[in-house]
Amino acid sequence: MLFFSHPACLKHDPSAGLPGHPERPDRLRAIEAALVERDWLGWERREAPAASEAELELVHPRAHVERIRDLCRSGGGAIDLDTFAGEASWEAALRSAGAACEMTRCLLAGDAQVGFAAGRPPGHHAEPERAMGFCLFDNVAIAAAMAIAEHGIERVFVLDWDVHHGNGTAEIFRRRADVLFASIHQGGIFPGTGAREDIGAGAGEGFTINRPVAAGSDETVWLPLLEDELLPAAAAFGPQLVLISAGFDAHRDDPLAECRLDAGSFGRMATMVREAAQGWGVPVGAVLEGGYDLTALASSVVAAMDALGGGSGPWD
Ligand SMILES: [Zn+2]
Repeated sequence: MLFFSHPACLKHDPSAGLPGHPERPDRLRAIEAALVERDWLGWERREAPAASEAELELVHPRAHVERIRDLCRSGGGAIDLDTFAGEASWEAALRSAGAACEMTRCLLAGDAQVGFAAGRPPGHHAEPERAMGFCLFDNVAIAAAMAIAEHGIERVFVLDWDVHHGNGTAEIFRRRADVLFASIHQGGIFPGTGAREDIGAGAGEGFTINRPVAAGSDETVWLPLLEDELLPAAAAFGPQLVLISAGFDAHRDDPLAECRLDAGSFGRMATMVREAAQGWGVPVGAVLEGGYDLTALASSVVAAMDALGGGSGPWD
């Protein structure tokens, strides 16, 4: 069990340009404080290296990478109403992507069966040529693309359980059959994509699965979608690696959405994924996305990590 993060990820501070921004450094502090209290659940901590620009360019055109780099170097600023990059955001973004990549490399090398990459800024809304939704680069997509490009992996299952649709990841792999992207998200909220009818395109048709759920949906809605639809589809796909876009904003206390999961729900979802992956004989890595109520975020991450490591709670 390997946990990756880096102190530079605390230096990215959107509130410097967008006051009151919910994606704040205290998110990581809350997660780490809760893990300290649990003796890190027996997980080994490792410092995330910086991702290389070549790794970023596996899914983002060079022009996008340069645009973000130049914005940070010139002192930074707001990119849109939600998304900010300051001077310190460049290294934070590289470490955040680097956490996902290094975790993936370690999993593929057999160092561990499960990993958690706790970086920020998050990634799953970043489209190839566009930072948005608090995200500069798509960390989970970079890690998946790296596994394929550099480690001979042919099939990656990306499960996105953040309450928002992972439009960036979906867009990046829309036309590819080597990544099965499956998302459960609240319909009708940001970013507005992720209709059930969107199943990918071209060679990627059938390799995108969207399951929007209604506001108010609790685990009686979420867990069966995972168990009865997404995991069987993944089993048929035959992944060699499982990556979770692990947002925790479907928690009932989260201020940005209206789903009603609790910490235990994340533990139960993580258990299902771990058991499925064990059955397939493949590793699982989780990459932090959203989650904006500090107490809910911390307890949900603890539950998910405990479950990934084989624990069974209690989580509530
Ligand atoms: Zn989210």
